[in-house]
Amino acid sequence: MSESATSAVPGMTVASAFAGMRSVAPVVFKAGCPDCRGRFELAASALRLAIGATSRTTFYSFTCPDCGAAVRKPAGERIVELLTGGGVSTLRLHSAL
Ligand SMILES: [Zn+2]
Repeated sequence: MSESATSAVPGMTVASAFAGMRSVAPVVFKAGCPDCRGRFELAASALRLAIGATSRTTFYSFTCPDCGAAVRKPAGERIVELLTGGGVSTLRLHSAL
């Protein structure tokens, strides 16, 4: 399992370079577009999270890099955790406490 310890090899492929950098690489989120059915990876800065009073009004949104559609999807607890932990800018919608 630890054969990959030889990571400083000149001429390594992009894939192995990324594998070696995994711990310091920027966080990206896999997303899909319901309009053009494109699949892509988005940086945290490309996503926005809006947290409402209930899970029904909690969602994340992004602009599809392929077709430009504004995509909005519901965000469950786990997704909220992932997005906030990954540095996605968060907007809290519920103001009445
Ligand atoms: Zn699209």
